[in-house]
Amino acid sequence: MPVRNSYLPYGKQFIDKEDIQGVINTLNGDYLTTGPAIEEFEKKVAKYVGAKYAVAISNGTAALHAACYAAGIKEGDEVITSPITFAASANCILYCKAKPVFADINPDTYNIDPKEIESKITSKTKAIIPVHFTGQSVDLDPIIELAKKYNLIVIEDAAHALGTKYKGNYIGSISHMTEFSFHPVKTVTTGEGGIITTNCKQLYEKLLLFRTHGITRNEKLMITKEDGPWHYEQIDLGYNYRITDLQCALGTTQMDKIDFFIKRRKELVNRYNKELSKIDGIIIQKEEDFSDTSRHLYIIKLDLNKFKVGRKEVFEALIAENIGVNVHYLPVYLHPYYQKLGYEKGLCPRAEELYKSIITLPLYPSMSDEDFNDVIKAINKVVSAYRI
Ligand SMILES: *Cc1c(COP(=O)(O)O)cnc(C)c1O
Repeated sequence: MPVRNSYLPYGKQFIDKEDIQGVINTLNGDYLTTGPAIEEFEKKVAKYVGAKYAVAISNGTAALHAACYAAGIKEGDEVITSPITFAASANCILYCKAKPVFADINPDTYNIDPKEIESKITSKTKAIIPVHFTGQSVDLDPIIELAKKYNLIVIEDAAHALGTKYKGNYIGSISHMTEFSFHPVKTVTTGEGGIITTNCKQLYEKLLLFRTHGITRNEKLMITKEDGPWHYEQIDLGYNYRITDLQCALGTTQMDKIDFFIKRRKELVNRYNKELSKIDGIIIQKEEDFSDTSRHLYIIKLDLNKFKVGRKEVFEALIAENIGVNVHYLPVYLHPYYQKLGYEKGLCPRAEELYKSIITLPLYPSMSDEDFNDVIKAINKVVSAYRI
């Protein structure tokens, strides 16, 4: 008999009446896209993280692509990122015909290790894309130091980290550019959506350009003389990466609930830490003092020496208990596409080692105390069956 009858997902959106009403109001309004809901949402996110500018984009991946464009990343450049991330953190580099370079992780926090970054810097390095994995802040100070020393741009992939603070400051207010994602499993959702925050006006203008085909109506940016009030110019090759007013209306009412979302996530994580640290064979992610983490993912590491079986069997047993576990992530360069590009196994040994023994447990604000207890029950059941 499984510990529960219904399947508990690993992540899920939280939608209330205000969210639904906000989207309906927009549907009844004048704009479905390029309307006022977009700026309202951008201002709300910028204010929340303490950034001067924010540009909302169709999804987090497109936002990363836009940031790479704004950073001037192009063919021949190298960009350093973490192997323990969603493919988008490296794909955005390939979109610009540049080369992703993977720097290994800290084996305890699972975040990119600044010392490893420095060892990967060459004369071709143009930028660093650190990833705040699970929502825990990377150690930004040494990364920003490196960026100053070697004249690099920092683009934070904070898809997991809306609401996280590094040394008291919100992620999104610190480096050149920061990307957040609004996919339904992330801190707040717009269905699909992403945003870049920045304090730099020049980068802000480049992001706006890229979001709309490379087209501008800004006279200062236009190359030829203005023909008349109808005139606009395409001055570079951009994309249609616009987000809709419907999505941004949802984002705005979601942002009203962010404190509650984070509070509940922190509560659940504290309870996970308390319950799971008692279980021999389970290792908990190290939390650095400099990070006040908004908690996107909860990951356990199995001490496989203490189990009769591998991670796969433990994973399958938890699924059989109706606990929606997951694995984040296969090191990016081990995907067949990256292998075809010539990245070899063994490139980042700590990342590969971590991948073998991790399992992501369910974590989202609407998870009930009963749901939580079911996860703990299932883990105890599976661990006692499989531990040596
Ligand atoms: C979710 C996510 C993204 C962006 O994803 P979209 O689905 O395109 O919004 C980027 N990086 C990481 C690490 C992510 O988890």
